[in-house]
Amino acid sequence: MSDMTNNMAVRNPRTGANDYEITITTAEEIETLALAARAAQVNWLAKGLDHRISVMKELASVMAANRDELIAALSIDTGRYAIAAQEVDAIGRNIDKWAHVARHTEEQAEQNSMAIPSIAFRSQRKPYALLGVISPWNFPLLLSLIDALPALIAGCAVIIKPSEVTPRFAEPMRKVIDQVPGLKDLLIYIDGDGSSGAALIDHVDMVCFTGSVRTGRKVGEAAARNFIPACLELGGNDPALVLADADVDRASSALVRGSVAATGQACQSIERIYVAQSLYDEFVEKLVEKAKSVQLNTPDIHTGHIGPIIFEKQADILKDQLDDAVTKGAVIHCGGEIERHEGGLWLKPTVITNVNHGMKLMSQETFGPIMPVMAFEDDQQAIDYANDTEFGLSGAVFSENKNHAVEVGSQIEAGGISINDACMTAFISEAEKNSFKLSGIGASRMGPEGYTRFFRKQAIITNTADAFDVSMLDEAHSKP
Ligand code: NAD
Repeated sequence: MSDMTNNMAVRNPRTGANDYEITITTAEEIETLALAARAAQVNWLAKGLDHRISVMKELASVMAANRDELIAALSIDTGRYAIAAQEVDAIGRNIDKWAHVARHTEEQAEQNSMAIPSIAFRSQRKPYALLGVISPWNFPLLLSLIDALPALIAGCAVIIKPSEVTPRFAEPMRKVIDQVPGLKDLLIYIDGDGSSGAALIDHVDMVCFTGSVRTGRKVGEAAARNFIPACLELGGNDPALVLADADVDRASSALVRGSVAATGQACQSIERIYVAQSLYDEFVEKLVEKAKSVQLNTPDIHTGHIGPIIFEKQADILKDQLDDAVTKGAVIHCGGEIERHEGGLWLKPTVITNVNHGMKLMSQETFGPIMPVMAFEDDQQAIDYANDTEFGLSGAVFSENKNHAVEVGSQIEAGGISINDACMTAFISEAEKNSFKLSGIGASRMGPEGYTRFFRKQAIITNTADAFDVSMLDEAHSKP
């Protein structure tokens, strides 16, 4: 949708109207910004951790002072208010958390080698000078900053290219950053589409990408060509297992929330539910009842539970997956129709049974409030079903016996396993985790490694004895 002037129209997810426009940042402009960022980073690093933390806290307070304006833009981007407010409010807490991690992450102290005691060594960390962040549309503000905050605290400069689907929040963010003089040229939001994202990779020392597998593969290839590290956080098709000794009421409540939160437009959303045969009927009945109680946030954005489908093309994917399932014999118990209200597109929580792994719904990422339910005979079959996917982001297991749940959950090939609840990685970020299979690659975004990944390690090795001279090379030393 870009025109000759390099402008691009942006759709409003509640009205369907193109009521905003961005100008795509060119490769030349990115090069200029990158040069400025690199120059600013030298001083940013030299001023030390305390200075960086105090500037980041200033960013948090200016964001808090501009909360209404940020939420207003973000709620037009996403068509939802409560989550927009949560995205904005989370930033201050995240800055505090990373400041704490940074203060408690020590460099290796100097010690003597066990092999050659006269040699002292230590390892020090040097941050990558410039990080590129490329982010998606589902949590636009939060995911634009999730990697940027620890990177800035580590001493990097950051250029962020948010999704062209939800770019409105970037303008108030630029205004916020302008009010934090210490961040000048260090935290830069650029507008643009995939071409700007691709150009950015050519000017940075590391890239953090959140988005689809398809684009992630391109980003990974470009990073490999440039010999820069890439952290790729990609899609998922997360399973939930309701074991025979689970509390059905608890599982059905958590799984409705875990499947429909953010209209299912969350990477860690539950997308497949497997239930022990003995609990199946009771579970489906409760799931349908609870799914029907979920309300759309239309016509009033301040009511209901779930917002519109943000990206128009996603509605086509949901419809295609539902049509494919129904054609192959699936039964829809509630929801199931893409609804148009005042130009926006919504889908009510959809419970669907009589499904199998030959359906697109079960094998592809859905990214909607759809809950396909299948019965299993025993734990091994449940684990096999869970692992029958090319994704490995996260999963959930329910059992009244925690050890049983952990034992089964540990056999799921995925990076985050919630026990007796769903999508816990959205609530806490202290536990390190990797994405498995096509869900991503790179160091953990969570836990201490979420901070230390922005450094290269440099070994400083001192010989305190006489210098090793050429005599040590004398062949005579190794005479038999
Ligand atoms: P997307 O891959 O279409 O786009 C993501 C970003 O990449 C956008 O900013 C886009 O402009 C940019 N881009 C497009 N082509 C590019 C290229 N060739 N080079 C560089 N950048 C390019 O993803 P999306 O549709 O915006 O987001 C939804 C996807 O994100 C889902 O698959 C979801 O599961 C995933 N996601 C993953 C996580 C996670 O933590 N694992 C979190 C949220 C979303």
